[in-house]
Formats: sequence, structure tokens, C-alpha cells
Amino acid sequence: MKKVFATAEKFAEIAQQYGTPIHIYDERGIRENARVLYKAFSWNPGFKEYFAVKATPTPAILKILKEEGCGVDCSSLTELVMSEKCGFSGSDIMFSSNETPEADMLKARELGAYINLDDYTHVEFLNKLCGVPETICCRYNPGGVFSVANQIMDNPRDAKYGMTKGQMKSAYRDLMELGAKNFGIHAFLVSNATFNEYYPMMAKQLFELAVELHNTTGAHIDFVNLSGGIGIPYYPDQLAPDIEIIGEGVRRAYDEILVPAGMDDVRIFTELGRYMLGPYGCLLTRAIHEKHIYKEYIGVDACACNLMRPAMYGAYHHITVLGKEKEPCDHLYDVVGGLCENNDKFAIDRELPKIDKGDLLVIHDTGAHGHAMGYNYNGKLRSAEVLLHEDGTTELIRRAETIDDYFATLIF
Ligand SMILES: *Cc1c(COP(=O)(O)O)cnc(C)c1O
Repeated sequence: MKKVFATAEKFAEIAQQYGTPIHIYDERGIRENARVLYKAFSWNPGFKEYFAVKATPTPAILKILKEEGCGVDCSSLTELVMSEKCGFSGSDIMFSSNETPEADMLKARELGAYINLDDYTHVEFLNKLCGVPETICCRYNPGGVFSVANQIMDNPRDAKYGMTKGQMKSAYRDLMELGAKNFGIHAFLVSNATFNEYYPMMAKQLFELAVELHNTTGAHIDFVNLSGGIGIPYYPDQLAPDIEIIGEGVRRAYDEILVPAGMDDVRIFTELGRYMLGPYGCLLTRAIHEKHIYKEYIGVDACACNLMRPAMYGAYHHITVLGKEKEPCDHLYDVVGGLCENNDKFAIDRELPKIDKGDLLVIHDTGAHGHAMGYNYNGKLRSAEVLLHEDGTTELIRRAETIDDYFATLIF
């Protein structure tokens, strides 16, 4: 059973006050989860989570995470400027971008962010543009497939990101000649990994690479950035990853590989997005139409412009019909938005209780890559975002777009 993080009365109150559709975030859940993450990695004194801004680029959310000790992981100029406005600077910022424009790189350098180079050619690009900083990171792509117990989880070989091992060595050597003193290693090999082995297995690969890079180039390895990728249980019968077991698995690899090599000062970084926010946000929408043709449809006031994941990846998002949690799921519905696109469906053939016009629906787990992936197709406007505080009060943290916002870039 998947639970919603507020009562049906609270959701009704939010709908009444702010309107629907609306994205709602649970401050308590965000804070508690961040604390559990920090505890799981407390064995590593330098541990730091750099929240992937792209997942939820909302200042109020970034500020909560800042209070919990997190930095930010940025991938563009806009995200860097937003982070700067939220008070992040220097080593609070990781800049993990690819195909990086000059202006973005210059801003990262100006802020003193850790720069994570995606490609060998970026060594020269960075050096010519603004020189090489003392601490620098390179992104690794081991190629092949990432498999657990003979099951393929993802295909690094097909990913556009990162450098080969040979390129990592060349990059470190060149960067040392250009003045770099401390090095980071980064990799992102599996997305939405809900199995506990992902981080420990990747950490082992990266720690072995760290030892090899240190031994062959003499570079001082300052940090290993395990990046994002830890998943969340979108389905009701799915198990959540256990961050304590994950942290312990990384510690074991650290003790086995880095400590004997005399590299016991390496800091562990993460760039989690989905894991930090996904379950602590939801999309509240209202049923506004029902339609009976060859299938049964429920039309809601949200559409794929508010949450793109189902349309884009066929992603499952659980739905709770508020006030009907105890009723039998004896109706088969497609829950759809109003875009002129037949993939604008939040659920297909979903067993749900009977839905009536006016019912409020909670679409679960939209806290990460939810509002953030919003767009304006069909002239649809992005919704507001509201924060549910720990004391039960609510705060508007982003207003809804208006037609004037949409028209702001148009030349009539
Ligand atoms: C998207 C991304 C993340 C966050 O990924 P999640 O799946 O949300 O954890 C972290 N680092 C980089 C470089 C990314 O592109």
C-alpha cells in the first residue's frame, strides 16, 4: 500500500486555496530522508550530497537541502545562477555538465565550483577558456554493460557520457601539467536503481580505478563522486532501496580497496536527485470529465505538461483517489490529460475505485523530474508548487504560470 503524505482534508484545503493541478512537497519527508542519507555515510568524514538541481529546480527546496548540509549539482548556466542566488558557492557546487557551452563553464569557474569534465577534449577547452583549477574531476565511462547476477541493468557502452580509462589517464596527466593538484572521479552507470548493490558495485570499480590512476599518474585522488541513480519504488509492491545497507556496502569496498592503498582520505560524494525528492512530492489534480467509448476515460485537469514521465518513458506513477482509499478497485480506467497527443495518459488500464467528477487524485512520487520536466505544448501553463511545512502549514514556493508569462517571449 502506498501512502500519501497528508490527509485527504489537507489536500482538499490545498486544492481550495491554491487550485489544481498543483505540485506539493513534504518538508518533513525531505529532511528526514536527507538525515538518514548522511547517517548512512557518516563513516566517511568528507561525505557530501550534491543535490541534482535538474530534478527539482525550486529555490525553497534547495534551501531546505542546504540546511541539511547538502550542496548542489548543476548542469547548466541557469542552474548555476539559481544556486548562487540560493547562497551556494565554491565547494558547495558540483558542475557536472556535458557538451558544455563556454558561458556555462566560465560561470562555474567564477563560482569556484568543482568542475567535472565529461570528455578528454574538455581539458584543452577548459584550459584555453579560463585555466585549470587546483581541484578538478573527470567523468568515467567503463563501457560494456552494468549487470547484477547476470541481469543487465544498463548499458554504459551506449551512453554519451564520460571518458574511457585511457582517456582518464591522459586527462589526469595533462591536468597535472596544467597545475591541477587534487582529483575527483565521477561515474553514473544506472538510472533509478532500486537494488542495493548499485552503489557498492560501482564504488568498487571507481576505487580500483582511483588506485590505478594514483599509481600510474601520481595524481592525488581527493574524492569519488558516485553521482545519482539510486531509485525509488514507484510501484506499490516494490521495495525501497535500503540506504544503510548501501552506505555499509560502499564502506566495505572503501576498506578493502582504498585503505590498503594508503588512500584513506578520499571523500565520498553523491549527486542524488530522485532519491532525495521523488517520494516527497506529489501532483494533485481534479477529475473534470469522464468518457465512455471503447474504454473508460477519466479526464483530469493536469496533463503531460505537468508531469512528462508517463508520456515520455511509459513510467508508472501510483494514483490515490482521495476519500476512496478503502473502496474496492473495481473500475478499469485510463486517466488522461487534455493534450492533443494520445500519449497524454497518467495511467492506462488502471484498477481504481469508481471516480466521480470533482474527485481529487494524488499522483505519487512526482517530487523529482516532475514539475522540472514541465513544458508548454498546446499552450498549457506550468502549475504552482506548494510546500507542506512540518507544522502542517503550507507555503506557495512557485506561482503558476500565466498567459502573460507564455506571451512574454512572443513578438506580435
Ligand atoms: C540526472 C543526474 C543526476 C541525478 O540523477 P537521479 O537519477 O535523479 O539521482 C546526478 N548527476 C548527473 C550528472 C545527472 O545527470
